[in-house]
Amino acid sequence: MAEKVYFNGKLVDAEDAKITVFDSGLQHGVGLFETLRSYRGSVFRFADHIARLKSSASQLNMVVDGDAKAFEKSINELLTANGLSDARIRMTVTAGSVRVGIHLGGQSQPTTLITCGALPPMDEVYHNGVGVLLSDYRLSPTDPIARHKTICFLPRLLSLRTAQRVNLADAIWFTDDGNLAEGSTSNIFLFKDDKLLTPSLDLPIMPGITRKVVLEIARDLQIPVEEGKFSLNDVLAAPEIFLTNTIMEILPVVVIEKHLVGSGKAGPVTRTFLQKYRRLARMETS
Ligand code: PMP
Repeated sequence: MAEKVYFNGKLVDAEDAKITVFDSGLQHGVGLFETLRSYRGSVFRFADHIARLKSSASQLNMVVDGDAKAFEKSINELLTANGLSDARIRMTVTAGSVRVGIHLGGQSQPTTLITCGALPPMDEVYHNGVGVLLSDYRLSPTDPIARHKTICFLPRLLSLRTAQRVNLADAIWFTDDGNLAEGSTSNIFLFKDDKLLTPSLDLPIMPGITRKVVLEIARDLQIPVEEGKFSLNDVLAAPEIFLTNTIMEILPVVVIEKHLVGSGKAGPVTRTFLQKYRRLARMETS
């Protein structure tokens, strides 16, 4: 069966979806994307993903062509056409064609692409936890794209690749001034002294949808949360650490380079959050 994609409002064979060589995404990396996850055919926290996409677009002077209802319908059709129900879904929006000179677009019709695929098998990593690297890259509060899911993803990919070369799953990033920030493609949580700690959204980090759900679960479990600024020492002193994103959900971190996190095994709090998260995702999508 030919893979189907949604391209500029139409369901087409992936092979037939063609962008102009003048597309601003190709020419200048001007574009945004969202990665969503469906559980039994229904996208978890769909409204939050669309709200983030639209908020970034308006802050970065871009246009998202379509409303949440239309996108939801397109995604449902796309999943059915590809025979998928538990899937990863990617929405990509660029500023469309920019034929002359260097500018941000705005005059042209945006390019909108929605694709979907099977989820990567990850069972073992939830059980055993993963190791991470400390990235040399820094996030800056003055970087205009730091808080947005733009298609300028090269630094993130380089960071992931550096980690994977030494058999580690991800890399942790800090800010210019040494505050803990996030993973290459994830938010980060520490559990220490009976409190859940996570970098605050004042820092130049992505406002993760999964991060928001984890904060809701913490409230539900009556676990105190501190959103703030944390150092490498806080990271090294935490007995439990986990990363979050839409696809991985909640991933235990058990090793930081040569340092063992806690006992070096996925901790009980992390496991509780993962269970609660999965239960919530299934409940909301049933
Ligand atoms: N930070 C970065 C840099 C990311 O790329 C992602 C993945 N979108 C996240 C955090 C987590 O976001 P979410 O929970 O919305 O997937």
